[in-house]
Amino acid sequence: MAQFDYRHVVVGAGITGCTIARRIVEDFGERVLVIDRRDHIGGNCHSSVDPQTGIEVHNYGTHIFHTAEKRVWNFLSRFTEFNSYRHKVVTTYQGRTYHMPVNLQTINSFFGINLRPHEVEGFIREQSAKERISDPRNLEEKAISLIGRELYESFVKGYTVKQWECDPRDLPAEIITRLPFRHGYECDYFTDRYQGLPWDGYARLFENMLEHELIDVRLETDFFAVRADIPQQTAIYYTGPVDRYFDYSYGELSWRSLRFEYEVEAVADYQGTAVMNFADIEVPYTRIHEFRHLYPERESDSGKTVIAREFSMKWKQGDEPYYPVNTDEDRKRLKLYRQEAERLENIHFAGRLGRYRYYDMDKAVLAALELCDELLQFKQ
Ligand code: FAD
Repeated sequence: MAQFDYRHVVVGAGITGCTIARRIVEDFGERVLVIDRRDHIGGNCHSSVDPQTGIEVHNYGTHIFHTAEKRVWNFLSRFTEFNSYRHKVVTTYQGRTYHMPVNLQTINSFFGINLRPHEVEGFIREQSAKERISDPRNLEEKAISLIGRELYESFVKGYTVKQWECDPRDLPAEIITRLPFRHGYECDYFTDRYQGLPWDGYARLFENMLEHELIDVRLETDFFAVRADIPQQTAIYYTGPVDRYFDYSYGELSWRSLRFEYEVEAVADYQGTAVMNFADIEVPYTRIHEFRHLYPERESDSGKTVIAREFSMKWKQGDEPYYPVNTDEDRKRLKLYRQEAERLENIHFAGRLGRYRYYDMDKAVLAALELCDELLQFKQ
C-alpha cells in the first residue's frame, strides 16, 4: 500500500481522532490511517510515567474523566476500566485553604461564622445586595451581583486576572451566568454519574482504542507536510486548528496558552490533593497539580512526589493552544472559516481545535460519535 493511499485519514491522535478512527474501522470496515505531528498518541490527554518516582504524570495538565452520558461511558469502557477517583478542588487564599466551588466550609471558615445549610442562600443574597448592582456592565459587576464583593475579590478576581491576563472590568458580564455555591459541606467538584481515571492510564486507553488490524498510526507526521501525497478521494477527518487549515486567510483565532513547570519533591505528599488553586494575584501560577493523588489505589514507595505549577500565558503561533478566547472578532472569523469548510468535500473538521471550542473529554467523544453517526446514515 502506497504511504498515504487510504480511504480514510484521521489528522490528530487525540481523543477525538481515536474515537473517529475506531468507529470508522468498526462501522465501515475500511482501513484508516491516523497521523499526528507529535511523538505520542492521546493529544492533550496524554500521560506518561515519571521514571524517578513511577508516578503517572499528565503532560498537558490534570485530566479527570467525568460524564453524564451513558453512551460515552459505555464506549470508553470497552477500552479501559476506571478507578474511583472523585475530584476535589482546594483554593489557597492569603495562606489559608478553602473548598471550591464555594460551600458551607468555605463560607463559615472565610467569614468566621457558623451558618447552617438553610441560611446560606439568604447570607449570599445579603452579601450581593450590599452594592445594589441591578444591571452589571462587566464580569466584575456581574460576579459581585451574584456573590458579593468579599467572596469575589478573594476567590474570583485574582484567579481571573491571572488566567485571562486582563482586568475583569474589561471582560463582558455574559461570560458568567452563575457562580455555583453549595449549601452543605459537599465538596466533589463534579456531580456526573460516571467519573474516574483510566485504570492503566490514558496512554494505555488510547493504545487500546487504536489497536485494530485496520488502523495504522504514523507519528511525527504533520498533515501539511504530507497533504500533497494524500489521494484526492480520501476522506479526511481533521482535528487540527481550523484557521491553520485555511492558512489563516481570515486571520488567527485567539487562544490562551499554558506553561507547566514540573518538579520532583522529596516528600511523599506535597499538598494532600491533586489540584490546588492559588487565588492571590501575587502568586504567579494559577494551580499546582500533584499527580499521585489521582491514583489512590496505586502504591508508590519512592518517598517522592511529582508536582507541576501551571502558568497561564498569551498564545502566539508555535505555542500550544489550550483555551479558546472567543472574542467577537474570533466568532466572526470562525463563521468565515466554517463557510469555507462547508464548501469542501471529503473533509470533516472535528475536535476542540477543528471546531474552535472548549470540549471536556466526554463532549469531544460525544461529538466524534455523532459525526460518525451522520456519516453512517449518509452511507446507508
Ligand atoms: P487534542 O487533544 O488537542 O488532539 C488534537 C491532536 O491533533 C493533537 O495530538 C495534535 O498534535 C494533532 N494535530 C494538530 N495539528 C496537526 C497537524 N497539522 N498534523 C498532524 N497532527 C496534528 N477535559 C475533561 O473532560 N476533564 C479534564 O479534567 C480536563 N482538563 C483539561 C485541562 C486543560 C488545561 C485543558 C486545556 C483541557 C482540559 N480538558 C479536560 C479538555 C481536553 O483536553 C479536551 O477535551 C481534549 O484534549 C480534546 O481532544 P481533541 O482530540 O479534540 O484535541
